[in-house]
Amino acid sequence: MSLLEVEDLTVTYGSDDGRVHAVNGVSFEIREGVNYGLAGESGSGKSTAAEALLGLLPNNGRVDGGSVTFKGQDLLSMSDEERRDVLWEEIAYIPQSAMDSLDPVMTCGAQIRQAIQKHRNVSEANARDRVRELFEMVGLDPDRTEQYPHEFSGGMRQRVTIAMALALEPDLIVADEPTTGLDVVVQDKIVDTILEIQERIDSSLLLITHEIGVIAETCDDLSILYGGTVMEQGSVDNVLVNPTNPYTMGLKNSFPEVERLSEDPVAIPGSPPSLDAPPTECVFADRCPFETEECTDSEPPLVDLPNRNHRSACHHVDRAARMRREATDPET
Ligand code: ATP
Ligand code: MG
Repeated sequence: MSLLEVEDLTVTYGSDDGRVHAVNGVSFEIREGVNYGLAGESGSGKSTAAEALLGLLPNNGRVDGGSVTFKGQDLLSMSDEERRDVLWEEIAYIPQSAMDSLDPVMTCGAQIRQAIQKHRNVSEANARDRVRELFEMVGLDPDRTEQYPHEFSGGMRQRVTIAMALALEPDLIVADEPTTGLDVVVQDKIVDTILEIQERIDSSLLLITHEIGVIAETCDDLSILYGGTVMEQGSVDNVLVNPTNPYTMGLKNSFPEVERLSEDPVAIPGSPPSLDAPPTECVFADRCPFETEECTDSEPPLVDLPNRNHRSACHHVDRAARMRREATDPET
């Protein structure tokens, strides 16, 4: 059953130089119990898509089209108040850089208690017990709940934000770059913590990260974004093991897998597309080794591939897939 359905989401920002077309017709579906990854380079529109679907865009951001349905309810047409309730009760959001946005003058425990008491009718004593329990769940010392954010390391502060997000046992956890800025060992532990808890409270996960290795380890399905457009989508096995989109192939080489963290990433040559107008051609054409006239004549639609749960937006899916097969297995 579908938990979250995003259809044709289009988002722009107002700026001094005109509108920035940050998300262009993005669609994806998270089924119940599924962990979903949203991957892509910096500026590809990952955070914008998350903020838009949660109704949390900054003032200069605007949803220009599309729909977002969560458990059958249309999130975009709700009043701010209704959406706020859904957000706390059923969807937990761990924003990018959450660990740096904790209130410095309140203890971590007090911040979590405040969140709980706003939405649940619980006594102060019960809220305190719950915070201790949450600290334990995320691997923090429950005797440290009354300490301030600056008394914790970055990894610990990230655990506090996870505890806060999980306080009300949501059905969906949206985590934007929860491991970025942390050292590799701490990153792995944070990912393990999110997975453990998520399994315990039986929620789904929307994990946003530029690190596809983390998605490979934690998610069932994913979408690869580039220039605000979905380039490839489907199961992790299909998309990451047998990519058919040249952008995914480039991304795979440009980011180290979790198991191969010692390898230096190789960046895809070229720079990201301009976002000053909606795309009229393949957004990756400029940087793509398979580029032909067709690629600059029209934007390739995201189409279903013959295998189940695999879609790609590329005019040259067959050629790219054949070249990949030849590169990995010259006998074929
Ligand atoms: P990162 O990996 O760096 O977090 P991202 O994939 O989350 O990147 P977004 O932050 O969604 O990317 O940005 C998408 C595009 O929208 C970028 O070109 C960015 O510069 C632009 N953008 C983001 N926020 C704003 C804003 N408030 N006003 C104007 N443009 C914005
Ligand atoms: Mg972001």
